[in-house]
Amino acid sequence: MKSAMVLVALGSNKPHGRHGPPRAVLVAAMAALDGDGIKLVAQSRIRSTDPVGPSSRSYANAAVVVKTKLPLPELLRRLKQLEAKFGKRRGQRWGARTLDLDIIGAGDAVLPSRLRWRAAVHGLIVPHPRLAGRRFVLDPCVEIAPDWRHPVLNLTVRQLHARAHRPKGIADG
Ligand code: ADP
Ligand code: MG
Repeated sequence: MKSAMVLVALGSNKPHGRHGPPRAVLVAAMAALDGDGIKLVAQSRIRSTDPVGPSSRSYANAAVVVKTKLPLPELLRRLKQLEAKFGKRRGQRWGARTLDLDIIGAGDAVLPSRLRWRAAVHGLIVPHPRLAGRRFVLDPCVEIAPDWRHPVLNLTVRQLHARAHRPKGIADG
């Protein structure tokens, strides 16, 4: 099988007992990702977003490009294993999480299918359905994969990033 380049986003907003603060969690996660059929070929810097309120936690976000022959569902299974290893508790979408790993895109792959991508809500969805609106994902992605083109939206990461940072109210041309 041919190997593919896959863009993976990493996030953490909860320290790990052994690894330490979110930034250190991401350093450890990137190292853990490399190996066993997954090769780390590029990594962004790790960005910290300071907590807004007194009780909210600071986030660390980053992105990597991996090269792998694993089919995407198998890669997602591996990412979820890694999340579990770092103590992510399932079923808390917006809660504090030690490690979140998302498949952002993989070449021109579209899952579940080109026709069903926009309406898809269940199962593995690639490109990641919430990519376009998330600056904290686009900021690290533009560092390492500015030219990757979203196969459904037909926009590059550079273009998606620019749109996400454009002041609201300016009509899309
Ligand atoms: P999010 O990452 O959007 O904040 P979660 O990490 O809680 O939310 O993910 C919810 C579910 O989304 C996961 O259980 C996973 O099976 C599913 N999922 C669908 N597409 C993807 C993808 N491209 N990458 C990662 N998870 C995905
Ligand atoms: Mg996730």
